[in-house]
Amino acid sequence: MLEVSGLDVRYGPITAVRGIDLTAEAGTITAILGANGAGKSSLMKAISGLVPAAGGSVKLDGEDITRLPAHERARRGLSHALEGRRLFHRMTVEENLRVAWDFRSKGGSFRAVADRAYETFPMLTTRRHTPAGMLSGGQQQMVILSAALIHEPRYLLLDEPSLGLAPVIVQQIFGFIEAVCRERRTTIILCEQVAALALRVAHHGYVLRRGAVVQQGPAAALASDPSLSAAYLGN
Ligand code: ATP
Repeated sequence: MLEVSGLDVRYGPITAVRGIDLTAEAGTITAILGANGAGKSSLMKAISGLVPAAGGSVKLDGEDITRLPAHERARRGLSHALEGRRLFHRMTVEENLRVAWDFRSKGGSFRAVADRAYETFPMLTTRRHTPAGMLSGGQQQMVILSAALIHEPRYLLLDEPSLGLAPVIVQQIFGFIEAVCRERRTTIILCEQVAALALRVAHHGYVLRRGAVVQQGPAAALASDPSLSAAYLGN
């Protein structure tokens, strides 16, 4: 279980996250929702250690990891797939996976783990020797997810997996995310501006506004709550 208590994130005089409490139960999908600038990415980065917490704590399976550097959190099974297309565009799909492998702290065989990625995303199999920059946005997102899964994380943080993708591709990506959670028992925390789709696959959701949680609950209840207005979600 991941437990965030009273978390604050500041950038100089700007407070991006204020006093957030959040719990992600093992084996579930948690959606963090909110409009542009609500603080979603800052919360995710403070969980994975990419920005420091100015206050509060982050606990992973009971261990306080608030002061641990990002690579130590990764060693404990926390993987963060960042927003956008953070890929090596001139490298092939397979080479991108190999780079992720080089940062893997566990042992094992690259071939076995890479083949598991191709099993999860069969569409990549025929594209394995294609430079990542030549792929469609959806396929690039699949490579980003595959690279994160190379670490076989127990906890996977996904920053805006729908960003810039056509609706039909977004549905497919969310389908894969749901399957990863179900089949690998990976605990997934994803942040999204596209609330409706995220709530369809999530078990629990949090809505942020100006760095604070303004609403939370089971995803189904949030999805059917008419008070979750355009003002909070931006859609
Ligand atoms: P988006 O969907 O646009 O990524 P978000 O909900 O993820 O939005 P954050 O990116 O966490 O929101 O930003 C929250 C606030 O912190 C915003 O006011 C933003 O301008 C500010 N902010 C984010 N990163 C920095 C930074 N590196 N330096 C200064 N301010 C920042």
